[in-house]
Amino acid sequence: GRTTVGIIGAGPAGLTLANLLAKTGVECVVLERHGRSYIEGRARAGVLEQRAVDMLAANGLADRLLAEAEPHGVCEFRVYGKAFTVPYGDLYEGRTHYVYPQQELVTDLVAALLDRGGDIRFDVDSVALHQIDGPRPVISWTGADGEERLECDFIAGCDGYRGVSRQSIPAGMFREYSHNPGIAWLSILAEAPPSTRAIIYALHENGFAGHMLRSKTVSRFYLQCPVSDDVRNWPDERVWAELRERLALADGSWRLTEGAIIEKRVLDMRSFVVEPMSHGRLYLLGDAAHVITPVGAKGMNLALHDAEVLANALTHWRTTGETTALDAYSEICLRRVWRCQEFSQWMTSMIHMPREDDEEHGFLGRLAMARLEHLMNSRTFASAFAENYVGLM
Ligand code: FAD
Repeated sequence: GRTTVGIIGAGPAGLTLANLLAKTGVECVVLERHGRSYIEGRARAGVLEQRAVDMLAANGLADRLLAEAEPHGVCEFRVYGKAFTVPYGDLYEGRTHYVYPQQELVTDLVAALLDRGGDIRFDVDSVALHQIDGPRPVISWTGADGEERLECDFIAGCDGYRGVSRQSIPAGMFREYSHNPGIAWLSILAEAPPSTRAIIYALHENGFAGHMLRSKTVSRFYLQCPVSDDVRNWPDERVWAELRERLALADGSWRLTEGAIIEKRVLDMRSFVVEPMSHGRLYLLGDAAHVITPVGAKGMNLALHDAEVLANALTHWRTTGETTALDAYSEICLRRVWRCQEFSQWMTSMIHMPREDDEEHGFLGRLAMARLEHLMNSRTFASAFAENYVGLM
C-alpha cells in the first residue's frame, strides 16, 4: 500500500495526529500493536492542560471531554500534616486543568478517527521501518493477512518509550539526555471515590504521597519508595496504612476513602529527551522522544503538543510543498519539552524527601521546605508556579 503519513502507535500522540491530518485531508494510516479494547482500557495519565483542551475543542475532538471532564483550578499541599492550597486557576487568568482519564481520551480519539473515515490497523506485529533516510520510507509489519508493506512520504513514530521508531534511527544521529533523581513512586489505581476535591501533594517524613483524581469512582495514588522496591513488598493493607499516615492532617480532620486496588506498579522517576526529534523522513512524537516524571502531569500534554505541531507542519507541506515548518518541528517541540522537564524536576525536588543515603539529605530537605513556604506565602511565586503547572499557552 501507499499513504502520505504512516503513524506507528495509537496512543494520545498518534491518534491526535491522525485526527488532525484527517481533518485537513492529509492521508494517513495508523498501525497499533495492541487491540482496540486493550488501548481503550489502558489507564495511565489523567490531567489535561487548558491549552490541550482548547486545541482538541477547536478540532471537534472534545465534545464528551467538555461534557464530562471536571475542571480543576486548585491543588493542595500537605507539609508534615499541615495543609495549604494554591488556587492556580485564579492565579493564571482563570485557566484550569481538566481531569479526564487517558483511556477516555484515547476512546474518543479512536471513535472520531473512524468517524472521519480514518484507517487504523490494530494487532499489528513485528513493525519495522525501512529507508527513513530516503524520499520514500517504508513500514513493514505482520497483520491478520500476513506480511504487509506501506510506502509513505513521512513516518510519525508515536510508539512510546519502548517503541521501534526511535531504535530505527542509526546510532550517532541523535543525542540522548537523561536524568535519574534516584527515587521511585509506587503508583496505585483504586476503585475508591476521591477523598478530596483538589489533587493533594503531601510531604511526610516517610516520603512523598500523592492523591490524584481520575473519576467519581476511581482514584490514583502515589507513594515515594526506594528505586529497588518491588510491588510484592506492598500488600494492599500496607498501601492503605502508608497512604493514611502520609496524607493525614495533624488535627485528624481528614479521612481517606479506601477501595479495591486495581493496579500497582513501581515507576522510576527517570527523565529522557532525544535531540533532534526527527531523522530523515521520520518524526518522533510523545514518549518516543521524551519521557518526563509524572510530577506536574506533563507527559500526555506534551504528546498532544507534538501532534499539533507536526500536523500543522505536514499540512503546510501539503499545501505549499515547502518543508520549512517540518524542518522547525524538533526545535519548536523541544522548547516546550525542556520547559516542562525543568518544571517537573523543580517540583519533584520540592515535594520529595531526598534519599536517606544522599549525604545532603538534610540540606536538600530544608530547601524543599523553604520552597513550599515560599509557595504558601508569596502570590508572585505562586503565580509563576500556576503558569507552569496549568501549562504554558
Ligand atoms: P503511548 O501512550 O505510550 O502510546 C504508544 C502506542 O504505541 C501504544 O498504544 C503502544 O501499544 C503502541 N506501540 C508501541 N510499540 C509499538 C510497535 N512496535 N508497533 C506498533 N505500535 C506500538 N503520566 C501521568 O501524568 N500520570 C500517570 O499516572 C502516568 N502513568 C503512566 C503509566 C505508564 C505505565 C506509562 C507508560 C505512562 C504513564 N504516564 C503517566 C505518561 C503518559 O501516559 C504518557 O506520557 C503518554 O501516554 C504519552 O503518549 P504517547 O502517545 O506518546 O505514547
